[in-house]
This record gives sequence, C-alpha cells and structure tokens, in this order.
Amino acid sequence: MRERQGVSADRQNWRRATQGAGRWLGAGFFVLFSAWASAAQSPIDNSVTSAISPVASTEGAETPAAIAPAPDNAPLVATPPAVSGEPVIAREARVVGDGSRTRFVMDLTGPSAVSVFTLDEPYRVVVDLPEVHFDLAADAGKAGKGLVSAFRYGLISAGKSRIVLDATGPVSVDKAFVLPADKGQPARLVVDLVKSTRTAFLDTLRISRDRERATASHEREAVPGPAPNDGKLRIVLDPGHGGIDSGAIAKSGMLEKTIVLAFAQTLKEKLEANSRYEVLMTRSDDTFVTLRGRVQFARSKHADLFISIHADSFSGSDIRGATVYTLSERASDQMAASIAESENKSDILAGVDVPEDTNEVSDILIDLARRETKNFAVVFARNMIKELKPAVRLFKRAHQQAGFMVLKAPDVPSALVELGYLSNPDDEKLLTSPEWRDKTAVAITRAIDAYFRNRVANMAASEALTSGVGEP
Ligand SMILES: [Zn+2]
Repeated sequence: MRERQGVSADRQNWRRATQGAGRWLGAGFFVLFSAWASAAQSPIDNSVTSAISPVASTEGAETPAAIAPAPDNAPLVATPPAVSGEPVIAREARVVGDGSRTRFVMDLTGPSAVSVFTLDEPYRVVVDLPEVHFDLAADAGKAGKGLVSAFRYGLISAGKSRIVLDATGPVSVDKAFVLPADKGQPARLVVDLVKSTRTAFLDTLRISRDRERATASHEREAVPGPAPNDGKLRIVLDPGHGGIDSGAIAKSGMLEKTIVLAFAQTLKEKLEANSRYEVLMTRSDDTFVTLRGRVQFARSKHADLFISIHADSFSGSDIRGATVYTLSERASDQMAASIAESENKSDILAGVDVPEDTNEVSDILIDLARRETKNFAVVFARNMIKELKPAVRLFKRAHQQAGFMVLKAPDVPSALVELGYLSNPDDEKLLTSPEWRDKTAVAITRAIDAYFRNRVANMAASEALTSGVGEP
C-alpha cells in the first residue's frame, strides 16, 4: 500500500468535493501573487485588506531566514499580468529550512500566477498554478525537510496544476510568490511556511471556508435530466487516479494511473463493437477527478453500470491476481478495508477540501434504491469473476466488499476491479503487457454482456409477473 496519512474514511464525504475537478481558487486562498505585480496596476480584491509589499529580492531566495516576515494584514491578493506563450516547465524543486521556518522552491522556465491555501486532516498546503509541465526527478517530493514531510504535483483539472505540500503540523503561509528570472537564475516559485498553532491554523481555515462558501453558494449540484430514451445501455468506465494522484507506483516506476487509463481505453474499444452500448469515461487523459465527481458523472449520464479500474499496491509482494470489489459498509476483511481506505484518500492526496458532511442522506427511498443497486452490483461481480477465471489469474478471494466512496451511487450498479497488484513483480509484468490487456478486456466485455443479458431477461420476467397480478 502506498503510504498515506490516516484520516477516517467517514470524513471523506461528498458534500463539498468539487464538481468534476479541483477548485482553482479553493478553500482558504492566501496569496495570488506574482513578483512583478504592483499595487498600481493590480485590481485588488476588496474583500481582503490588501497591502502589496515589495517582494523579497532574488538575493537569498534559498534561505527562509533572509525573507522579511509577511505584513500583519496578509493575505495578499493581486492579479498577475497576463502570461502568454509557451507552457511553463518546472525543472527542479527543493525544500530548505527547519522546524520553525521552511521554504519550498521550484525552478520554473517562466512567470506564473500562484494561489495558496491550507487544509487540515491531515495538514496540507495547496499551491495552485496555471498548467505547468512538471519535469522533475522521479523521487522528487518523496522526502521533505523542516515543516514539509513530502509533496506531490500534477494536473488537477484542464489548464490547472497543483502542488500539495504535506505539513508536519499546523503551519501558516508567510509568503508565496514567483520570482522572475534574474542574473542567470531561473524564475522560481517560493512558498514560505512558518510554524503555527492548531488554533491559529483552524481560525484561518474557518475564515477561508466561510469565504469560499459565500462565493460558491450559487454552485448547485447538477440535477440529472431525464434519461435519453434511445434503448442504449450506458457503461461508465472509471480509470482510477489521474493527474496529481498517480495511484500506486511499481518498482520500475510505472504508474497505476497510466496503466488503468490504457486498460480502460482498450476495454472501451471492445465494448463499442456492440452498438447497444454507449461507453463513457470519467477521464480520458491524465487529469484528476474527485471521487464525488466520478460518482456524479455516472449518475448524470444515467449509467446502467459503473466500473472503476485500478491496479494498486499492497504490502506483501505475494498478493496478486485480479479482485472485484463491491460496496459494503463492512469490509470482507482487513485487506479489503485497507484497499478501500487507500482509494478513499485520493481527494486528500489531491488537496481537495472535503469537510465533514452535515447533510447526511438518510432518505429511506435512497436506501432502498441503494440496496437494489448493490444486489445488481453483486450479480455483476459474480459474472465478472466467472468470465475472468479461465482468462486471467484471480486473487484467491476474488470477490471482496468494502466501503469505497466511488461505488456509492445509489442508483448505478457499481464495481471496482483491481486488475492486479503493482506490488507484485509478476502482476506488474502482466499489467504492462498488451496481450494480457487485450485478453482481460475481452473477458470483462463478456461479463458485461452476460450481466445485461440476464438483467434484461429478469426485468422482462418480473414485468410479466407484475402485469399478471390481479388478472383472472
Ligand atoms: Zn487505485
């Protein structure tokens, strides 16, 4: 399993996850700033007491102590000048400082706007930028220093990139800015963090969440329109992870997000040979989609079936073989619980704000719908295992249950398939083999065919039964 900081899965509810992808100006933005922005040319956000102070000179940009403390009336908000031309490339990143003051620096090939906000459970600092191509060493971000224990980076949504710094405790953002290239030095993104207290951290978070709530109140959850009456069966394929969330990483450096996207594309092609199917994907490129966004997508498309595709790691390299998971509040066993916990952390890794839900759905009709949907999902999982068995290696307990967030659509039968485990070298070889991909996609297509055949037959039978009631 990947190492992820612990957070109760229950807190990962749906209410405020973003629609589709991460927020640009998310909870608690602190700074939107660029080094050359001046108060004179920048329209200032009136909601924030602003005083644009001159940014520290490029001298000493590697030393946090060399930076003057932020003015008391931070945060600062300013609009950077328009940036055009070639996409900015990030070439190198480093963390310097100690447990009281830490600086994160990333070399860029050009100027960029930047906005920063913090999140708790676990403590994180989220740095949002327009799209940046990250060209960093494979191990960049695995280790930190001072107040930063690790960091991740990647695309969060179309045209938007994100860096998530994992903090060792409560911190405050002293400064965040981009220094223009100067005297042979590249442009640099600089984020200065100072040690804070939990109380101060939560105060800042509360203020920023209130502000976000006020500005985002008009955003309503999209209500799905009526289902199209075209006789098609809609299948939503959900390649796990994406963008800033790489998923599991094999020893060879192969990423789960890449493997599962390739697999989903192959499966889509196979399924589309059947003209009754309409096949949709929650993502078709390397972007991040929230767990809630995936579920909402399936619901809004009136999906008849939702399949989330993964290839995770699990401690113990002897764990291998395909496994099909369906939703249950109680996990089949410890392994199923761990896999679900790991998957449910995707939004946390990506720096998406998912505060506690105060509006838990308890409507009995939804519960009933969910029960029926879950039964269909179990039938599908069994079909899948039957078809996979002769074709691919299965995990010894091939059908497992656990509380996966992504399987929680009350009205869409949903299953999650672990194609194999990247922690196992033999599985890794298979997962990256085109022959294996083809064979497995054919088997899953057969399972989907069988599922719909039986479902249509059962529905016809139950309709015949119902229409016969009360007749002589
Ligand atoms: Zn996964």
